[in-house]
Amino acid sequence: MNETGKLKRFTDQMTALTTRGGDDPTLIEGARELMKALVGADDWLSDEMAQPHPSHYRQYLLYRDPDERFVVVSFVWGPGQHAPVHDHTVWGVIGMLRGAERTLSYDFQNGHLLRGTEARLEPGDVEAVGPGIGDIHQVSNAYEDRVSISIHCYGADIGRVRRHVYDPDSAAVKEFVSGYANTASHT
Ligand code: FE
Repeated sequence: MNETGKLKRFTDQMTALTTRGGDDPTLIEGARELMKALVGADDWLSDEMAQPHPSHYRQYLLYRDPDERFVVVSFVWGPGQHAPVHDHTVWGVIGMLRGAERTLSYDFQNGHLLRGTEARLEPGDVEAVGPGIGDIHQVSNAYEDRVSISIHCYGADIGRVRRHVYDPDSAAVKEFVSGYANTASHT
């Protein structure tokens, strides 16, 4: 099956899932299963949606539900690149497609940023984030010498969601909107 086929199967199934509806745990459970199938083989993502930027990570919008109930994004890490500590404010499911990621989870309580557990995602691995299940983390490419790519599905148009980055030293919180590399809304 080509890119259109595998991605379309995923978005069709996500459309059915979000149409049936339910609470976040129900949607996350369903999305995890579908994501597991999507990242089961690294043979469908187009080169265009897999291009790293020389100085920072990139997010390409692969699909946006017309009713904005979910989006699918490819997250492309150049060698050694990392993201700041950030939250999402909506549920998200992350599937590792190529290379590997290191994630460090945090909790924010009473103005303090508390460091949690560290994990490493290998191809085929799936994890979830969101309010109530751990929404703050710092992510980096586990490799210094190659590109890594994960596929993300969020329960909103994440590129337009107002969310937060945290300074791990001072715990200062700043609002941000991430945008997408391949749309006019990129900031
Ligand atoms: Fe994240």
